[in-house]
Amino acid sequence: MTLPESRIDVAVVGAGIIGVCTALELAERGMKVTIFDPAPVCSKTSYGNAGVISPWTCVPQSMPGLWKQVPGWLIDPDGPVSIRPGYLPKLLPWVLRFIAAGRPERLDPVADALFRLSKGSVEAYKKRLSGTGKEQLVQDSLYVHVYRNRNSASLDHLGWQLRRSRQVPVELIDKVSLKEIEPDISDDYEAAILIKQQGRTNDPAGVGVALAEKALAKGASHIQAKVQKIYPDNGAGCKLVTDQGEFRAKKIVLAAGIWSCELLKSFGLKLPLEAERGYHLVLRNPGITINNSVMDAEQKYVASLMAAGVRVAGTAEFAGLDAAPNYARAKRFANQAKKLFPQLNCEEPDEWMGSRPSFPDSLPCLGEIPGVRNIIAAFGHSHYGLGMAPGTSEIVADYVTQRITGDSISPYSIMRFQ
Ligand SMILES: Cc1cc2nc3c(=O)[nH]c(=O)nc-3n(C[C@H](O)[C@H](O)[C@H](O)COP(=O)(O)OP(=O)(O)OC[C@H]3O[C@@H](n4cnc5c(N)ncnc54)[C@H](O)[C@@H]3O)c2cc1C
Repeated sequence: MTLPESRIDVAVVGAGIIGVCTALELAERGMKVTIFDPAPVCSKTSYGNAGVISPWTCVPQSMPGLWKQVPGWLIDPDGPVSIRPGYLPKLLPWVLRFIAAGRPERLDPVADALFRLSKGSVEAYKKRLSGTGKEQLVQDSLYVHVYRNRNSASLDHLGWQLRRSRQVPVELIDKVSLKEIEPDISDDYEAAILIKQQGRTNDPAGVGVALAEKALAKGASHIQAKVQKIYPDNGAGCKLVTDQGEFRAKKIVLAAGIWSCELLKSFGLKLPLEAERGYHLVLRNPGITINNSVMDAEQKYVASLMAAGVRVAGTAEFAGLDAAPNYARAKRFANQAKKLFPQLNCEEPDEWMGSRPSFPDSLPCLGEIPGVRNIIAAFGHSHYGLGMAPGTSEIVADYVTQRITGDSISPYSIMRFQ
């Protein structure tokens, strides 16, 4: 099956939250959009995340001195980071770039670039969901970072300083106030830092499905096909070779998450995109309530109440994209979460694993693909894709429609890795 070029203005490769938000934004601007993905909408990484929608993201994953903590994390089976034995030699170049990205002089530029993509995300989701009948999927929330050790909860630490210097509304609270906000939390937690005016969803995939349906209602279409090859077609447009035939489009937005680089290999582009695998455990019959997104600041996992139960999500596991999941990492969340919420009923757990598409500097690649006309990058959102999808979609749509040029989005340029 080959569609004439005029039928598709923009082909979006990938129906994760980045592809769906971008397709909706383009459809709302009057473009004829087709999403290509063999999988159901938001059934991969965007399915199982922690549901945190932050309009304030500005703290990169790589921070000065962080590497000193990593050996301790690696030997702790409950630690937030793990590297599968045998994978380290392959991972090493990425690790070196990750450490370099945490140099003090890189902090502010990266923080500003993260902030730009996340700003306004809660309002943007509310606006997009309005009229879908699914408005309740995104709620106002606090992001509650809880600490067992009172002294660790300091707003003077670098990450909190980065936020405060950008006027992020944060507040240090004591144990009594924490109990008022989250009555079911363990007495072992002595303090918390709140990030205010956040959002959260109790069904991340549901948000994607609602927005995809809205895009379809505005004229977009979804072809359930795996894209095998993309290339510019004699300067005028692009071609997609799929397992369902060939298609033409004026432009292609590549939003295939961790799988995006596979489609760039034929252009000789090698990018340091790593599968930063995360896990979740859902406890279907939790017997407790959690009112907000709650992050154990020391163990670095998030617990929140989803439509399906309490979801505990986190972990950064480096094992390569295709390695089998190690669900023992998800199962450990049961013990950890029980320390956070002692009354939590951990029967009937459901485990899940997904791969964050992570560049070493925590920023995605957006915009031009060097030497390749009409194919536009929109991938690599690491830990923040849910929160950054609306901001990304606006930038990508501005770029597609030539309202902005590559210069104005240079922090996200692929050229930073060439
Ligand atoms: C445990 C965990 C917790 C997280 N918590 C949060 C959080 O609370 N807040 C937050 O903002 N972010 C969070 N994230 C990160 C967030 O989930 C990701 O950044 C985001 O889902 C990435 O979305 P995506 O659309 O780029 O990728 P995906 O959701 O993976 O979508 C990519 C799509 O591309 C499709 N595809 C792949 N190859 C092809 C092909 N050849 N042809 C066609 N289609 C193709 C796939 O089928 C898939 O549907 C978390 C991640 C994890 C793992």
